[in-house]
Amino acid sequence: MKRVGFIGWRGMVGSVLMERMTEENDFGQMESFFFTTSQSGEPAPKVKNAFDKLLPAMDLKELSKMDILVSCQGGDYTSEIFPQLRGQGWTGVWIDAASTLRMKDDSVIVLDPVNRTFIQDSMARGVRNFVGGNCTVSLLLIALHGLFKENLVEWVSSMTYQAASGAGAKNMIELLDQMKSVGTTFAAHPAASALELEKKMTTLMSSSEFPKANFGHPLALNVLPWIDSEMPSGQSKEEWKAQVEANKILQTKSIIPIDGTCVRVGALRCHSQGLTIKLKKSAHLSTVEEIVANANPWVKLVANNKAETLKELTPGAVSGKLSVPIGRLRPMTLGDTYFNAFTLGDQLLWGAAEPLRCVLLQVLS
Ligand code: NAP
Repeated sequence: MKRVGFIGWRGMVGSVLMERMTEENDFGQMESFFFTTSQSGEPAPKVKNAFDKLLPAMDLKELSKMDILVSCQGGDYTSEIFPQLRGQGWTGVWIDAASTLRMKDDSVIVLDPVNRTFIQDSMARGVRNFVGGNCTVSLLLIALHGLFKENLVEWVSSMTYQAASGAGAKNMIELLDQMKSVGTTFAAHPAASALELEKKMTTLMSSSEFPKANFGHPLALNVLPWIDSEMPSGQSKEEWKAQVEANKILQTKSIIPIDGTCVRVGALRCHSQGLTIKLKKSAHLSTVEEIVANANPWVKLVANNKAETLKELTPGAVSGKLSVPIGRLRPMTLGDTYFNAFTLGDQLLWGAAEPLRCVLLQVLS
């Protein structure tokens, strides 16, 4: 049995990966070793064929005993450890959720429903670095898979509404702390009018007591239209990733432009996107719907009406599910090659953990 080391298994992505692998009885196919940057020697998660103690995640000797390493620990960890491991001759397979290695020539960005064949071919060619894509990009590609497959897309503009858990466990907990603070202030002023409450909340959000160590700003009762670092193009890095990663996953011969504004919102889990899709030629709505709906087992077309949209096209309805709904699909008044759509998906499942799980199983098979 192959020895598989897991790093970052208790973070947001890692814990969803553990949950999925347990649900699907994957651990029976490998010997598992769990690593940590903070709890070495503590008991490891109790899964089938697992070594019972947590191992130190900075220990190259322990790491290099593994045939496969799966890291959900984050970019800083990858930047520090991966080059050292390869530098000392480790030839195992590296599977990663972080963005660090995505655009490297010797890495493949994995998204099983969209590029499974390319992943298999890459394995046969000896590629050993497999990286999950940016969550919003992966969900966009699953939703619009059919239109890309049919080579119908000229460009896409995506305006995102990204959940707090996309920034990690500590950030998601901070959003809840912010909400608690809002709730406490609300409860302390039962007789206040709506306008008085609005003023109290605005004062609270800008006060030094409001918990914002991780986001740096209030997210509760607010939106944050910048995610990740600044790029010379004026884009945020999250916005920059859309075009470069999507085109790498799709292996396009000429670049399909994808751009828009990425916004953090107060949803807990699930990233949403409002899309403007420019097609290469005009198409009837029913044709576009059919192409979109039948592209892969995960995309789910939601009829463009108020009742079904509000029932099925929200983070509350989609959290924890593998399906990737797309709705609000309609021609736009901008011209007969422009379509509007709204899509969302669980950024911790197909946006992060599930592509890693799929590639791990492919490596093991
Ligand atoms: P995370 O939740 O911040 O977890 C990363 C590590 O933080 C954990 O493995 C754990 O390491 C440590 N940690 C510290 N306090 C913690 C707490 N209260 N609960 C859990 N873990 C805690 O990070 P993540 O969101 O899973 O992201 C991991 C990587 O995946 C990043 O590179 C990220 O960019 C990428 N990614 C994330 C998402 C997403 O939706 N979150 C989607 C796609 C890709 P120790 O056990 O070693 O202390």
